[in-house]
Amino acid sequence: MKVISSIIDIKKISSDLRNSGKSIGFIPTMGALHMGHTSLMEKAKKDNDAVILSIFVNPTQFTAGEDYHNYPKDIEKDKIIASKSEVDYLFLPSADEMYPEGYKTFVNVEDITEPLCGKFRLGHFKGVATVVLKLFNIVKPKRAYFGEKDYQQLLVIRRMARDLNLDIEIINMPTIREKTGLAMSSRNRYLNQNEMVSAAAIYKALKISQEMVKDSERISQKIINEIERVIKSEDGIKIEYISICDPDTLEDMKIINDRALIAIAVRIGNARLIDNCMVEVR
Ligand code: AMP
Repeated sequence: MKVISSIIDIKKISSDLRNSGKSIGFIPTMGALHMGHTSLMEKAKKDNDAVILSIFVNPTQFTAGEDYHNYPKDIEKDKIIASKSEVDYLFLPSADEMYPEGYKTFVNVEDITEPLCGKFRLGHFKGVATVVLKLFNIVKPKRAYFGEKDYQQLLVIRRMARDLNLDIEIINMPTIREKTGLAMSSRNRYLNQNEMVSAAAIYKALKISQEMVKDSERISQKIINEIERVIKSEDGIKIEYISICDPDTLEDMKIINDRALIAIAVRIGNARLIDNCMVEVR
């Protein structure tokens, strides 16, 4: 695996790959890699001739008071993980090169960035869309891989790719979980042992909500109340939002009469954690 830190170098590498007819699979990440990330790398390896992984803790997607300066970093371990997953090129750009003095251009995907996390992290998705478009323009991959854990992010990237006519296939991959069901996340590193145990309630609540829908519950508020009850039965979890919404528009669904997304965001100790699942009425 080659480690590349300058934009001009990775552009040259990806251009040479494309010119020799090789397909590039790209995985943008913020590092502190875990099995959620490696599942994307393995899929990219299967689908493409070459895999490029980026690690960049993107300052523009953090809002004031968030964990930008403390975001978990473990670059030496990340190199080992990426190389074991047969990543060909690890791209580690610097914030100075990505956002030089006078940087003024941002990508704004409307509407779907407003509810859920958008309400609590103002400007977050503008930062995400901007950095992902920049990385796409630098790497010019054939395919790019994203996790369903960050469902709203996936939707924003898909919309941006469609609206801006990007010739990049966006591929989504299922959420990888700990044995307890807790969705893997770099931010799980903030949790102590007790908090890890409490955090399992998020998945437990999602499973219960899926069962309720299977048992013919259609009233979203009743399901939301039950999710709230399950999560609040654990110590130290603060609910940010629980939403049952249309998976395409993210608009609230009061009655579940089709496919619906159930999305949760909570705070536990120093961590903000999100998770979701899909339910379907046949
Ligand atoms: P991050 O480093 O957290 O920005 O995530 C980089 C990519 O990995 C994003 O597309 C995430 O959705 C994806 N990802 C993060 N956690 C998981 C997980 N537990 N399972 C699957 N994909 C994940």
